[in-house]
This record gives sequence, structure tokens and C-alpha cells, in this order.
Amino acid sequence: MSRRIPGGLAARGAPSRPDGDQRGPFDLCAFCPDLCLDRCPVVEATGCQAYSPHAKMVSGWLATRGGVAPDSDLARLAFQCTGCQACFEACEHRVDVAGALFALRQQWTSAGLSPYDRSLFFERGPGATDALVRAYARVVPRRYFVPEAQAVLFPGCRALLDQPQVVRDALAVFRGLDIAFVGASEAAAVCCGYPLLAGGLRDEFERHAQAVSDSLRHYRLVVALSPCCAHTMKTLFATVGVQTPPRVTTALELVAPLVLRTKREPLGRAVAYHDSCFLGRHLGLYALPREVLGHILGMPPIELRRTREESPCCGGGGAWDRVAPTEAAVAARRVMTLASDAGADALVTGSAACLSHFVSAREQAPGVDVEVIEVLSLVARWLQSRPGRSPGAGTREGGLP
Ligand code: SF4
Ligand code: SF4
Repeated sequence: MSRRIPGGLAARGAPSRPDGDQRGPFDLCAFCPDLCLDRCPVVEATGCQAYSPHAKMVSGWLATRGGVAPDSDLARLAFQCTGCQACFEACEHRVDVAGALFALRQQWTSAGLSPYDRSLFFERGPGATDALVRAYARVVPRRYFVPEAQAVLFPGCRALLDQPQVVRDALAVFRGLDIAFVGASEAAAVCCGYPLLAGGLRDEFERHAQAVSDSLRHYRLVVALSPCCAHTMKTLFATVGVQTPPRVTTALELVAPLVLRTKREPLGRAVAYHDSCFLGRHLGLYALPREVLGHILGMPPIELRRTREESPCCGGGGAWDRVAPTEAAVAARRVMTLASDAGADALVTGSAACLSHFVSAREQAPGVDVEVIEVLSLVARWLQSRPGRSPGAGTREGGLP
């Protein structure tokens, strides 16, 4: 990867770089002819060019260099971003637009300019503590609550509240592959805190991240079902000075090596795969889900018209589904339409959070006729396809990989 212009420094002025280039991200974008326009899911879903990466960065340029006093209308622009990083992949200068806009959100929220009520970023996430604990206890059988477990399942709020079947399917996959060391704990029945960061609530995010980190610290491995939670704990905690729990992995990474060594009748379904922003652009996992799908389907998954680094965002990131739910649902339906246009009978996602957003978008405007499945749910179905243990699958009772 080439040099990265860190957006987080933008609000403090142009960073000095070893190559002598003193331009900051706002300068680069403000004088760029919108070269990444076609990648932005917000523009695609709204048709509004005022939401292009260039236009949003001009708002930051005006406030930091152009002598314009920011107000809530200017601040609103910084929230029209899913944090998908599609523009970063398209940018010759590798400008981290999302990082810059998230920094602006923090700055303008602290100044009282955010047009959104802070409660919006707590609902059904960081503020839903009791509901999450109850959902976790309902979905995860008591036998998983083993105090001495070395690893813990961290399902994430979207899976627990909206898609509990995905949590059950993940547990079924662990059972089917004899992964017996992953336990459960109320400490993992929480939101990772991402909506707070996306909502510009930096101090609240720091406090929440610290609490999550403290409660998970004694586990040697945290198994996150959602790549958003994995990225938040692995990378975003550190941006506010909070120590990452000792080792965090996605459930997909944990099960993939055993899936690939297990033999079952292939499912033989024509499914399309969608690279979620967190699993792909943030965690860099493009090949692994395709390997797993190729193995269980008996053929490679169908590729969407735009894929991998160019994959379109479902619209659910960056709290955009909270500040612009109707438009965010349009983005999700566009991705589902890509799958049906490609002849797929199902769309597979590697993110329970994306699944939740796809399902709710389809419910809001029925008409997109494609099933959406989380990859572990498909693995669970495949493991049921022929009984008996495959040679080489092995048992993982003994300890962590
Ligand atoms: S991110 Fe890069 S391509 Fe996009 S507007 Fe900024 S400088 Fe231009
Ligand atoms: S990170 Fe994604 S949503 Fe945000 S400006 Fe870039 S392309 Fe648009």
C-alpha cells in the first residue's frame, strides 16, 4: 500500500510528511475534481453530488482554512459518510476521507454543532446494555458460560438484537467442527462502541471502549462474530488510547482452516458474495471468505459487478443507517439488486451487521427477491448436509489455535 494521508490529523492542519509534501487531506480533496465520486455509496444512494467525498472535504477545508465559521448545516455533511473507505482505494493520494470526516464529527460535536441528538448513537447499541444481556442469555445455552474458558464469543449488538439465528449458527459451526474452547460471558454481551465513535462522541467512545477492554482482558482470545466489532477492538480502541483486548479474531478466521479440512457434500448453490467494508477494506480479508465459499459450494461464488476493494458499501456503516435510514436502505437494496442481476439465488455476507441492514432494507421496500445469508449460517447448513465427522477435521478441545 502506498502512503496514506491520515485524515485524523486534518483538523489540526496539514501534517508535515517525509516526502516534503505539506498538503493535508482537506487541501488535496478540495482541489481535486472529485475523482472518486463514482465510488461513494452515499452519492449513489442519494444522487446528491453535495455528498461527494470532494464536497464533504470542502466543508472541512472551509472550516479549517477558508475562514468559514462552521454551523450545524456544515456539520451535517461530515455525517453523510459510511466510513466505507471505497474512496481511499480509488484515490491516487490515498486520502483517508472517512478518517478526516470522523475527526470533524468529533470536533463539531464537542462544539455543540452536531445536528443529531446524541441518544441516536446509543440506541440499540452502546445504550442497550440490559437488552443485550437478556438477548445473549436467550440465544447462548447455559453450558457455554464456563468461567475458566480461555476464549469468548463476542456476537455484537446487531446479531444479538436483530439476527440471533446467526449467533446460533456460529455455535452450531463450532460444535460441528469440534471447537470446544469458545465460551460465553455476560462481559461479551455488549456493543463494541462503534456507533459512539461514528457519532462523533469521542469521550463516550473512550469510556465505553475502556469498559469493554477491561471486562475482556482476562480472555486469551475474543472471537468477534461481526468484522465491525473486530476492527473496532483491534484498531479503533487504540485511536483513543485504549488497550486492545489481548487477541481478537473474527469467527470466520477461527473456523476457516477447519472448514477447509472438512469434507461434506457441496451445497451447489449459485450464491453471490458481497465484500463487507469491515471484512474487506478494513481487515483485508478478501480471499478467505471466497476459499470457504468455494469449498462448501463446490464452485466459486458469483462475483458482483464491483467487488473486493471496489465493493459497494451496503450503507450501514459510519452510523449512516442512523442519521439517514431511508437513504442507507437504498444503498443496501442496490447491492442486493447487483446480486439478483448477476443471477444469484442468494447473497452471502461476511458481516452480521450488514445482514441486519440488508434484511431491514428489504422489509422497508419489498421487491428485491434475493435471500441474504451470513457466511457462517451457510457453513452451518453445509455441515448438516452429511452426518459424521470427516477425516482430518480433528478435535479442538485441547486449546487455542
Ligand atoms: S479522496 Fe482522493 S480522489 Fe477523492 S476527492 Fe479526495 S483527493 Fe480526490
Ligand atoms: S468513505 Fe465511503 S461513504 Fe465516506 S466519502 Fe468515502 S466513499 Fe463516501
